[in-house]
Order: sequence, then structure tokens, then C-alpha cells
Amino acid sequence: MSHDVVIAGAGPVGLMLACELRLAGSEAVVLEDRPEPNPHAPGVALNGGVVELLEMRGLMDACRADGFEFPMAHFAHIWLDPGQLAGRYPYNFAMAHSRLIHHLTERARSLGVDLRFGHRVRGVTQDADGVDVRVEGPDGESTVRGRYLAGCDGADSAVRQAVGVGFTGNEEPFHGTVSDFVVEPDSVLNQHMGAKEYPAGLFAVSPVGPGTVRVLTGEFGVEPPSRDGAPALAQIRAAVHRLAGVEFTGDDPTWSARWFNVTRLAERYRAGRVFLAGEAAHTHFPLGGQALSTGMDDAVNLGWKLAADLAGYAPEGLLDTYEAERRPVARRACTTVRAQVALLHPLTELRDVVTELVRFPDVNEYFVRMAGGTDTRISFDEDLPEDAHPLLGRRIPGVAAAVQSVPELAEAWASGRGVLLDLSDEPEDGRLDITGWTDRVSPVRTKPLPGVDAEAVLLRPDGRVVWAARSGQGGDGLAEALRSRFGTPTPA
Ligand SMILES: Cc1cc2nc3c(=O)[nH]c(=O)nc-3n(C[C@H](O)[C@H](O)[C@H](O)COP(=O)(O)OP(=O)(O)OC[C@H]3O[C@@H](n4cnc5c(N)ncnc54)[C@H](O)[C@@H]3O)c2cc1C
Repeated sequence: MSHDVVIAGAGPVGLMLACELRLAGSEAVVLEDRPEPNPHAPGVALNGGVVELLEMRGLMDACRADGFEFPMAHFAHIWLDPGQLAGRYPYNFAMAHSRLIHHLTERARSLGVDLRFGHRVRGVTQDADGVDVRVEGPDGESTVRGRYLAGCDGADSAVRQAVGVGFTGNEEPFHGTVSDFVVEPDSVLNQHMGAKEYPAGLFAVSPVGPGTVRVLTGEFGVEPPSRDGAPALAQIRAAVHRLAGVEFTGDDPTWSARWFNVTRLAERYRAGRVFLAGEAAHTHFPLGGQALSTGMDDAVNLGWKLAADLAGYAPEGLLDTYEAERRPVARRACTTVRAQVALLHPLTELRDVVTELVRFPDVNEYFVRMAGGTDTRISFDEDLPEDAHPLLGRRIPGVAAAVQSVPELAEAWASGRGVLLDLSDEPEDGRLDITGWTDRVSPVRTKPLPGVDAEAVLLRPDGRVVWAARSGQGGDGLAEALRSRFGTPTPA
């Protein structure tokens, strides 16, 4: 039997991709090495870009019960005010990533994804029609075949290595520990909640569950510790003391790991019928949540394109747009995160200058959007003409949040289809004709949205604007935009 898409890795990116594929009508099997959904995913916060995507797909309501909004964002721990940006989420969201994985796993199950835990990908071979994935599972070795394979199996991706795609970059001397402790209410760790930078590095404490905190340390310029094995309690305590002068007592951590400041980008995102996404395609220090938002955006970019190809209506070259659109975004994230790490260390006067600069509303907005992963403009054509609508290639600010007030939009986003948004006050008079594409695009009428200077916009399933009508333009260019993104119309 051949599956539509085999996905290696049930991290947030693999699970999101599986859900996207199911929404768009394809079938997916996920192979995950761990015996169960990861209970110790290291992240503790979601940036604005991830909140936007989860809101679009109707997943944010479930997450809200497991976390809380905090009305801040940061660039190198220089605090920003996302509340100044019209239409965007005025907060980041604190939630242990194990809960994100839980909710995505539940969603994937409810959509009928075939999830196989305890299945490790060992090798990959491909031919003209599909990919054979060699898997080691509870019953020994087997082969799983798919028309396509997506490697979402993290920074050490077995898929990427099997298809021979290089992962180039560098590692800088900034290392640390991450560990979970069960604490009493009077623990000294509770008094250090939050993230703070010190001359020697970082020390952060975050809540990750009832009576449990996550302690993160990061030290500059120290000898890289052995990559083997988890750090012991004594080593974590020593690091916390060196950094912040804090002494804490208590039992061993319930979980601990080391992290290293590695920045790498895959040389290609596609090798034949194999695609890479998330940490398998790009990895960098996880400051500001950009690693996850870039990965989740990979998933929503790739899902509908693979499904369109499998269903036979993808315009020529659609699958190649995945690398063309996503790799530059990851390259930029690698650059901006390295800039942040440089600003963290050493604690220079440069920090004071940037701290002064972020008080300017435009600078605040620039950094909020950069760190939140919402500043991306996908360039669909080599050169957009100078008079191209400024929304082209972007997500509309506020369009994800509008799900709360426009049920038709919530329904359209949750279905994973494209959306034709009619924002005019005009009666529907047939000027926005999408006959033949209604199986792939949902028409939605709504009131004008703040900050959106358009009478109508066509959005891809990942929320990116591919056509926008200025006042009086009517439906000019709409059919061409539909055809080039959603393929030929279905005959009546
Ligand atoms: C210390 C630390 C703190 C972080 N904090 C944050 C934060 O607060 N906010 C944030 O947004 N991001 C944070 N991140 C980054 C975030 O964790 C990653 O961006 C995110 O997990 C990437 O998701 P992914 O699905 O691409 O990869 P992963 O989460 O790495 O998932 C890959 C999955 O593939 C599986 N796998 C690996 N090899 C195989 C194989 N051969 N076969 C089958 N399965 C395999 C793994 O078991 C894993 O489940 C942090 C990262 C670290 C290290």
C-alpha cells in the first residue's frame, strides 16, 4: 500500500503538516521515534505568528486553557510592546510545548491521521512514483511507502541525511541546560520567574505545570560540555549560581537536557519526492519563538501544495514554490537570531542604544513583527511591480483574529481552503466570480477590516494574499490569480 504522504516526526511541525494535509483531502501517516507524544518539549512560549496560525485553524481555544497571554514580546530580551500594533495579537502566549503537541496530536487523531509512535525512520530510497521509508518499529523492521515524504524529524534529521542534503552553518560558544523541577511554593526558584540576562549569560524560570518550573541556563564563552547525557543536578545548580548568584535546594530534576547554539540551514528543502520542514530544514538558537513560528509556517505552506499535487489540480511548478518561498524566510530568521545573541553578549552599550530605539513606535513595530515571525512577505513573482498591492504575499493583520467575530471565516479557515474575502459594502453582483473553484476556495463576505485598503482579497489556504482589489477594480485579474494558485476550474 502507498500512502499519500509519509511524515517523519511528530513534533509540532510534523503534526501541523499532517493536519493540513487531512484538511486539504490527502491522507497522511506520521512515524515518530518516541513511544508517546513528547512530554518534555523544551519550549515554553508561542510567539504572535504561531498564535495567528493556531487561531486560523481553530486550535487556539483549546490552548487557552493551558496557558496565559503575556502582553510582551522581546528582541534579545529588550522588551517590546506588541499592543501598539493594530490588528495583531497584542501578546505572546505562555504554554509548555508539550501541551501544544498534545493538542496537535488530538487534532491529528480526530482528522484521521495514522499516527505511529515508537517508529524510527532508518533509511529512505525513492523512485519516480514514490518513496520507500525503512522503519524500525515495535515489531522489527518494515518499509512504509508514500507518494511523498516530509522530513519533520528535527535538527538531526535522519531523512535529510538519507537524501544527502547538506546542513551548513556554525556553532558558537554559548551553551546551556534546560530542566524541570517540582517546587514547593516557597522555593527560591519561584522568586526568579521570568527571563533575565547577566554578564555571563541567561537564567530563566517559567511555569510548565502545576507545581513545576522549567529552569533554563545559558553561558557564554565556556568550554562546550559533552553532548552525551543529561546535566546532573549539581551541574545545573552550579550554572545557576555562576550566572545569577542564586542558590536553590530540592530534588533532582524530573527531566533535563543540554542545548547548544547551533545555526544551520538545509542547502535544499526538496530532494525529488522528499521535503524538509521545521528544525530538519533550519535550526538556530530559539530566541523569541522564531524557530517554531518559521517551522509552523513551513507546514501550512507545504500542506495544501502537496494536497493539490496529489489531487491532480496543482498548477505546474507549485511544489517548487515551497523552497523558493520558505528558505529565504529561514535564512533571515537565522540572521536575526544571531544578531539577537550578539546583542545579549556581552552586555554592551549597544543594548542601551537599542533599548532607546525601541521606544519609537516604528522601531517597536519592526522588531515585534520580526521576532513574532509576522513580517514575512512571500514574493510570488521574481519582481513585484512597484504598484503591486502592499498586501500581496502577506497575511492580513487581523484576519486570523476576525475568526472570533465572523463565523463564516472561522469555518473557511478551519477547512484549510483558500478564501475569497469580499470586504466591500456592495451587494454581491457576480463581480467576484469563483465558479469552478468553490471546491478549493470559500467565499466570505465581511465588514471592512482595519488597516486593509482593499475591497476584496484572495487568500491561499496558508492565509497569504495572492490577489487584492483596490476600490473600483472589481474582479479584474481574479480568474488568473485563481488559476495560477488553485489550478484549472472544475467544469460545471
Ligand atoms: C531549550 C529550548 C527552548 C526552546 N524554547 C522555545 C520557546 O519557548 N518557544 C518556541 O517557539 N520555540 C522554542 N524552542 C524551539 C522549538 O522547540 C522548536 O522550534 C520546535 O520544537 C521545532 O519543531 P519540529 O517539529 O520542527 O522539531 P522537533 O520538535 O525537534 O520534533 C522532531 C520530532 O521528530 C522525532 N524524530 C527524530 N528523529 C526521528 C526519526 N529518525 N524517526 C522518527 N521520528 C524522529 C523526534 O522524536 C521529535 O518528536 C526551544 C528549543 C530549545 C532546544
